[in-house]
Amino acid sequence: MDQATPDLDRVVKDIAEDMRGRTDRGEVATYIPELARVDPRAFGIAVIDAEGRVFAGGDSETPFSIQSISKVFTLTLALGKIGDRLWRRVGREPSGSPFNSIVQLEYEKGRPRNPFINAGAIAVTDAILSGHQPREALGDILRFMQFVADDSSITIDEAVAASEQRTGFRNVALANYMKSFDVLENPVPYTLGVYFHHCAIAMSCRQLAMAGRFLAHLGRNPSTGFSVVQPERARRINAVMLMCGHYDGSGEFAYRVGLPGKSGVGGGILAIAPGKASIAVWSPGLDANGNSHLGRIALEQLTRRMGWSVFGA
Ligand code: GLN
Repeated sequence: MDQATPDLDRVVKDIAEDMRGRTDRGEVATYIPELARVDPRAFGIAVIDAEGRVFAGGDSETPFSIQSISKVFTLTLALGKIGDRLWRRVGREPSGSPFNSIVQLEYEKGRPRNPFINAGAIAVTDAILSGHQPREALGDILRFMQFVADDSSITIDEAVAASEQRTGFRNVALANYMKSFDVLENPVPYTLGVYFHHCAIAMSCRQLAMAGRFLAHLGRNPSTGFSVVQPERARRINAVMLMCGHYDGSGEFAYRVGLPGKSGVGGGILAIAPGKASIAVWSPGLDANGNSHLGRIALEQLTRRMGWSVFGA
């Protein structure tokens, strides 16, 4: 065992302990009613290093709704399906707007700024759906998630999907608006059905950190040896995560944490320390930008103590 092993173990345990006692935990999302039922006292962290060792603390085995973190994996799938043609339909610039904002879409003729805001992710889902039935496309997304996490037990939380299907009026508006510019190829209810369901995939921190390993290691899972994408594509997905993964909180996340990361309104964050580790944290309370409040603080502590920022140790 090298020097870093006990150190990382200690750091992860310290962070879990610190987060357990905090009273300022942010606000749990309520606009998807099913998410409001989650216990705000939960906190989990899992870090998987280059050798495949898992360092975990808190509720690292509890499945939660990954929500927008799924957008990293749908982006990967869509790039695999149609390659760089995807970038004709969606940009890769930070939006500086909330995740569910509609204003830019009018100025930019229905082409979303990036694949991680809701409009962009809906356009990406639409690209995956083309040529398939919704059920097949969703099956492909779930199987891809199981493949990258090397875990066939991962499922979709149907109650969360149904909850968002009933209340996701903003996303219905975004999708219809894009459809009016011909940015979506499929019927809006089909595309949204697939989108709501992939957002409702439930995973634990450990499963999510496993799923992110290919992004930390040049497109390949170093334990299974499976190549998921070429190194250049992994680098580029990380770049989009760094610039856009936290919406209008992306600058703050880069400033404080210094890693590519993707958040979800379920309170999860996947962060990538290239060459070093894949990291997942979860705490359901959100900050004003809809990103996990304690999740970000935990990652800030982790990268500071480990010297893992992509901008230098
Ligand atoms: N399914 C959620 C939505 O569309 C995802 C948002 C998020 O996690 N930021 O509103």
